[in-house]
Amino acid sequence: MNEKTFKYAIYIVIVILILLFYTKDIDLFGNNFYKNIKPVDNPDSFVVLVNKTYQLNENYVPNDLETISNFYAYENKQLRKDAKDAFEALSKDASILGYRIIATSTYRDFHYQKKLFEEYTATKGKEYALECSAKPGHSEHQTGLAVDVAGSNDDYDDFENSLEFPWMKENAHLYGFILRYPKGKEKITGFKYEPWHYRYVGTEIAKIIYEENLTLEEYYDKYL
Ligand SMILES: [Zn+2]
Repeated sequence: MNEKTFKYAIYIVIVILILLFYTKDIDLFGNNFYKNIKPVDNPDSFVVLVNKTYQLNENYVPNDLETISNFYAYENKQLRKDAKDAFEALSKDASILGYRIIATSTYRDFHYQKKLFEEYTATKGKEYALECSAKPGHSEHQTGLAVDVAGSNDDYDDFENSLEFPWMKENAHLYGFILRYPKGKEKITGFKYEPWHYRYVGTEIAKIIYEENLTLEEYYDKYL
């Protein structure tokens, strides 16, 4: 191979790498999400699907929200009654084993989510906001069934490295919770890996999702 051919080959490799990098991004956060948006028609169901396709109505507020005991959550954090009872049971059982699992973010209404998304956009840019937050109506937190948790390292963002994460990963389903945005399923869920975000679906469905290593989207495709 002479020098000219070698240079030419290098250019081609660089162009291919650039193309791969951009198509990867387009796939994940461009074409598939926030297109053909559909309204959620079963907002009160424990198996409700809210994502970058299915949107909750601006006025939807669950009618059975209850405040989680301060022992298991930051101040004034609410979930729907069944999810709240299940979370308190989970956190209590974890504490008996010496773990500390605290709810840091739970129910968020449409307007709060709107503010949050706009703040992210203003301070960190639209791309970051789209990657790390959800547009209003598209956040599971509006269902009152989603909870972000922190472990004994007291940092939800670093929950993966807490003592509690391995236990949570293997036991959350026994209380009706699923790890909602798993690693490697970003193209299905539309969200990056979030080791701290759990979603209540009830024990029966959580068991299936856990055992078959599904996302809620895949559960819908397979069973509903
Ligand atoms: Zn969350």
